[in-house]
Amino acid sequence: MNTLQVLGLCALPVLLWLYWRERSTHRKTTAVMSRALKDATERLGHDDRTGLLTLDMFEAKLNEAAQWADQSAQSLSVLTVAIDNFGLISNGFGETSAADVVKLAAERLVACADPAAAVCKVATADYALLVSGGADASTLLAQRIKAAFAQPFDIEGERVNLTCSIGIAVYPLHGAQANIINHATLAMRSLQSSGGADYCLYDPKMGSQAREEALLVNDLRQALQRGHFELYFQPKIDAQSLQVTAAEALIRWHHPTRGFVSPVVFIPLAEKYGLIGPIGTWVIEEACRQAHGWADSGLRMRVAVNISGYQMRQDNLVEFIQGVLAAHGLQPQRFTCEITETVAMEDTQATQLTFEKMRHAGFHVSIDDFGTGYSSLASLQRLPAAELKIDRAFVMDLEQNEMSRSIVKSIVQLAKACNLRIVAEGVETTGQRDLLVAMGCDDLQGYLFSMPVSGNELQKMAMNRFSANSAEFRDSLYATSFMNDMK
Ligand code: C2E
Ligand code: CA
Ligand code: CA
Repeated sequence: MNTLQVLGLCALPVLLWLYWRERSTHRKTTAVMSRALKDATERLGHDDRTGLLTLDMFEAKLNEAAQWADQSAQSLSVLTVAIDNFGLISNGFGETSAADVVKLAAERLVACADPAAAVCKVATADYALLVSGGADASTLLAQRIKAAFAQPFDIEGERVNLTCSIGIAVYPLHGAQANIINHATLAMRSLQSSGGADYCLYDPKMGSQAREEALLVNDLRQALQRGHFELYFQPKIDAQSLQVTAAEALIRWHHPTRGFVSPVVFIPLAEKYGLIGPIGTWVIEEACRQAHGWADSGLRMRVAVNISGYQMRQDNLVEFIQGVLAAHGLQPQRFTCEITETVAMEDTQATQLTFEKMRHAGFHVSIDDFGTGYSSLASLQRLPAAELKIDRAFVMDLEQNEMSRSIVKSIVQLAKACNLRIVAEGVETTGQRDLLVAMGCDDLQGYLFSMPVSGNELQKMAMNRFSANSAEFRDSLYATSFMNDMK
């Protein structure tokens, strides 16, 4: 045995000892790590603050439950629950109180459901419940949840009433397991878009409506770049002199395949999906460009633009309009901002600041669709408004309905008391016109006088004195002497 072999034999036990020590340390470490991993997985499967399941864990439970439902020919239901207008809570009370509400709502949901139910937090104020049973059982649960939400929530000592919207999808009745949460969410969202505060079962039609909406919004995004929008104009007529005092700009969308799409359809979509900003900007620029063209042709009238709630909340709206007016050499008092009564009554700081700036800028402000909101005399006087537009709904059945006549009469009195000019919109018959004039309306607007038409057509009508088309217009229509002070 040489020296090397002797040394090898001596080192062997040491090496073996080192090997076993390493192995046992490794085993211990692995055990500690797997325990930690298990704890973390369990924690990860639950939302920290509410203790509800996470969406991943909920989906895993749904997967298991769907297998059970398949084997036993039973049904199960997913309910998605959203706290309505949750933004108001975070804006009004701050993030900490909003987080408390989310936790309180989670506790109420858990208390409503069977202990075997899985309850999960999907998003900030959205939850999902997985329960056994079909439409009957889930509808009963939805009623219990609705009743639980009817109890006021205590937020910073205030008793605040909240509502929730609940969408229900039943497996396998309402589709494959992979779609069931989406279908419940679709039901909940479609309920929310019509006011919420209730529950409803999924209907396959909801899918096609949502798809249709998505396609339309996609086209709407491209419509501006592709020049598919056009502005039409409808005149407002002085009830006494029958002269045109203004032209209201109304947007038109010529869709390449759908044809004409009404602003009643796409303006609310533009507002909902954040597209009203660029569209509103285009309308203001285009209306001023047109007003400049009319002024060059010797026509003197105001141009009126519908301003959305979103635009009213932008802090640079007034400065932007001032810039466009200056670029076209137009006076601010020749520009009318039509703001709906509902938006005008929004008491947000941003809206009120915009009104204040409008007053300073000297814009002509008109309160649109008047009579549909809840204005008080005090709130009206606070606004820099010069004009009220009576909503078409009251004008429509003026001849048949005593109640509409009384409402219009009191709106006219209110307007006079506030020193406001009163415009009646949607005038279609001579009977309506006569009643409105007798009641003291200052201006009239409607199909009786003119449909909304393109800027060029309005100009042509004006140049031809327009009398051929409508006996309602006088020759003096668009007289250049009228409103000479305005430019
Ligand atoms: P609005 O501001 O109340 O506009 C009046 C609506 O009544 C217009 O519908 C007009 O074409 C229609 N109208 C006018 N006279 C008569 C009449 O005698 N009979 C009947 N039945 N209807 C009449 P339009 O153009 O479809 O616009 C609908 C709504 O879309 C507008 O209601 C306004 O809220 C919104 N809108 C239109 N253009 C714009 C825009 O450029 N910006 C914004 N934010 N909203 C717009
Ligand atoms: Ca309007
Ligand atoms: Ca209106």
